[in-house]
Parts: sequence; C-alpha cells; structure tokens
Amino acid sequence: MKAIRVHEFGGPEVLRLEEVLDPHPAAGQVLVRTRAAGVNPVDTYIRAGAHAVKPKLPFTPGLDAAGVVEAVGEGVTRVRVGDRVYTGGSLSGAYAELALCGEAQAHSLPERVSFAQGAGVFTPYATAYRALFLRARGVPGETVLVHGASGGVGTAAVQIARAAGFRVIGTGGSEEGRKLVAEQGAHQVLDHHAPGYLEQLTKLTGGRGPDVILEMLANVNLNKDLGVVAKGGRVVVIGSRGAIEINPRLAMTRDATVLGMSLFNASPQELASIHAGLIAGLEAGTLRPVVGRELPLAEAARAHEEVLKPGAHGKIVLIP
Ligand code: NAP
Repeated sequence: MKAIRVHEFGGPEVLRLEEVLDPHPAAGQVLVRTRAAGVNPVDTYIRAGAHAVKPKLPFTPGLDAAGVVEAVGEGVTRVRVGDRVYTGGSLSGAYAELALCGEAQAHSLPERVSFAQGAGVFTPYATAYRALFLRARGVPGETVLVHGASGGVGTAAVQIARAAGFRVIGTGGSEEGRKLVAEQGAHQVLDHHAPGYLEQLTKLTGGRGPDVILEMLANVNLNKDLGVVAKGGRVVVIGSRGAIEINPRLAMTRDATVLGMSLFNASPQELASIHAGLIAGLEAGTLRPVVGRELPLAEAARAHEEVLKPGAHGKIVLIP
C-alpha cells in the first residue's frame, strides 16, 4: 500500500509518500481501507518531535481516518467486513491506504456522514465533547464561550453544545470564519481580534460571563478568560502554543477553575462513552463535520503547512 512515512522528526518535508507492506489484522484487530484521513494540528507537533507522544521511527502519522472495513482478525464482533467506519486512533497510522486498528478504535459511521466528514470526527469532536462534559462538567442551560470556534475543535464544540441545550457564544478571527460559526449554531458570534470584544461578551451575558470557556489559544487568552468567566466558572485549556502570565486573583475572586485537557488522557471507558455520544449526534444530524479542503495523500506536507495557518475554515482531509 501507499503510506506517508516519517523517518526523522522535522518540518513538513519529512512526510514522504512510500510503498510499504500491507498490514494484516491479528486477533482483535480491524483493517480499514482508508477513504479519507483527517489532518489535525497535533499531527504536526508529533511529526516535529515536539509532542509528549513520540512514536518510534519510522512511522505513519494520523489519528483520524474513515473508510470501509477490509478484514477483521479473530474474535472481532463489533464491526464486519464492508462496514463504514471512522477510526479513533489506529495502530499503524491514518495517512495510508490501509489503517490497522484495535477493535475498540473502529466505530460505525452513519450513512448520512461522508468519508471526508468521518475523517473529521475523532480528534475534533472527542476533544470538544470531553472538554465540555467530562472536564468542565457543563450542563444544559449554561452559557459556553467557544474561544476559537471557527476551527476543527471549535465547530465541533459549537454543534455539540448547541444540540445539548447550552447557550453558545463562539469567536472567529475572519469574516468567513464567523459566518461558519454562526452556521454551526452559535447564538452569538464575536471577533477575537476586535478591540472590546470581551466587553461585548460580558454585555451579552448580562454582566455574568460564560459558565464554561473552551479555550483554543490559552497562551493568548487565559488571563482574559479569568477576567470574564462567571462566578464558579470553568476554563478548559484545549489549545496553547506558549507561556502566559496570569493574575491568580482573577480566579480567586470568581471561584473559577482552570482545567487542562488532553484527549490522549481519555480512559477506554471515557472513550467508549464519548463515541456513543458522538455517534448518536452523527446519526441524528446534529453533528455535521465541516470539510474545508480535500487534498491527495501525496500532499500531506502541504496539508501540514496549511493546518497551522490562521483563517481556519473546516477540516483539511487527505484522500488516498
Ligand atoms: P484549527 O482548526 O487550526 O483552529 C484553530 C482555532 O484557533 C481557529 O478557530 C482560530 O480562529 C482560533 N484562534 C486563532 N487566534 C485566536 C485567538 N487569538 N483567540 C481565540 N482563538 C483563536 O485547530 P483545531 O484542530 O481546532 O485545534 C485548536 C487547538 O486545540 C490547537 O492548538 C490544537 O493543537 C489543540 N487541540 C488540543 C487537543 C487536546 O487534546 N488538548 C485536541 C485537539 C486539538 P481564526 O483562524 O478564525 O482566527
């Protein structure tokens, strides 16, 4: 099969399309013929060797794929050959024509969701879901600020929160991004580059502030978040690309909590519950992954450059 291989950590140029041996499923494993692979910022940090998760070299990148079950190993009962599935991680990497998974990593992809959309499910949606429900313990009726709502995790968070009965305020950095956030169901949309947008946020919440903030760029926003979050509010750090100085008094006076969140820490039990919630939303049509661009698998390096640029507008997916 063709697969993207990384032989040394480095820039996007280390992503090379190569011919490798087809994997075969052992007992308890599932082989998926990949129809689309999702590109996430975390794939670039892993490729660069800058992430806590450092795979043994050489490796095939990618956590998120969607496709059709090609073969199953002994004892597999959850999926059958020919089933449409999306993957939540894999054993062999998603940027390839075939992806080998553990049985618990292959999940039914409802008919109404395309393969390209399916490749945009796991990392963005599971992250948003775990942050909102399992870390922030958000409950319907609360107000959530999705700080960075135009990207992969942000659009997922807006859809999940809206469908569950939260009041949703989302931010985007471009006109196009803000339009996208509104289309995903945000009740109000703000511009995170506009001066005074946080005063606007406070006004929109009647002076109270959001109960939950899902933060995509904590190194820029964490101190601002602590200044606007509601009393008893929770700020979940989902994304951060550097250090920041904060004033702890802001948290103190509000009884506010800052929570870290890494999807890599989700337990098997949590993941099973998260996937059940996501599949229900995909089936019902309340969760609709937004695909911004489809690129051929051979252009993985370009996809890694694009995914880190501002002006996010839906997922980038690779098509083998
Ligand atoms: P993405 O698709 O590239 O989206 C990035 C988002 O950040 C866009 O909505 C962008 O908005 C927004 N942004 C840019 N400047 C901002 C600012 N000053 N304030 C608020 N938001 C701003 O990336 P993604 O896949 O959604 O991931 C978002 C972040 O979460 C990344 O850092 C990623 O590594 C991280 N992440 C973490 C986990 C985890 O387990 N903790 C899982 C998945 C992702 P505009 O482009 O419209 O300005």
